[in-house]
Amino acid sequence: MSMNFVFDSALEDTAKRLCYKYWSYASPSDYIAHLELLCYDHNTETDVLFATLAKCQVYLDDVHCEYCGRPYQLDVPADVPYARRLNSWFCEGCISFSGGQLIVDR
Ligand SMILES: [Zn+2]
Repeated sequence: MSMNFVFDSALEDTAKRLCYKYWSYASPSDYIAHLELLCYDHNTETDVLFATLAKCQVYLDDVHCEYCGRPYQLDVPADVPYARRLNSWFCEGCISFSGGQLIVDR
């Protein structure tokens, strides 16, 4: 599996490592435990963790909008298995532009 990371330019290397670690985990079953462990390991609080994650955009390398080729942007790690199950995907921009002619495969 391959993801592309786009970081806020102000983000430090330690914060970037935190983002990589957060996104290395894609099983939603013990998501909370994963967050707690990340905070514990990095000696930080959950709100700081989320503030850091908000400065990092993550895209799937192998799932693209069938119409414009834009990569799939992830919100949470649980999106990864979801996106991989899609046979095809259209980004929101293309769906609204098409006025409903493009249908999302769910
Ligand atoms: Zn598109």
